[in-house]
Amino acid sequence: MNEKFATKMRDPKVRKDTRTLADFTQIWCANHHADRERVPVVSEAAELGVYGTHAPVLCEECAEHLRYAEKRRAYCPMDPKPFCAHCDVHCYKADERAFQQEMMRFSGPRSMTKGHFIDGVKHMIESRKHARAAKR
Ligand code: SF4
Ligand SMILES: [Zn+2]
Repeated sequence: MNEKFATKMRDPKVRKDTRTLADFTQIWCANHHADRERVPVVSEAAELGVYGTHAPVLCEECAEHLRYAEKRRAYCPMDPKPFCAHCDVHCYKADERAFQQEMMRFSGPRSMTKGHFIDGVKHMIESRKHARAAKR
């Protein structure tokens, strides 16, 4: 494993964001891919213990998205980091960005009943602020 990735993943903010991403991805997967084989994700963040004993249960397609997102979060150059949807850098490749946007729009509101009340509220507030700014 890349030492830089392992170092970044020791940062509590990066770990928390990564866990949130994983939980949001799991909500998406459970609602869209319930008919697929879904297993606890195998990834570098999981290997580092970021998800503790609660690795998100995902299909292989969603596991790939999460592995990609783990890397992007670890190497994010923004500090403070905005929500990716509102970032001017946009380090995601186009197809992954499209997936993340759709997944976050779906899972953000639903996360509020799944232990992410604060993250869900923040997501809504930031999305509204961004929508208002875009109209100006
Ligand atoms: S899209 Fe922006 S905020 Fe999100 S990980 Fe990439 S650089 Fe960081
Ligand atoms: Zn899935």
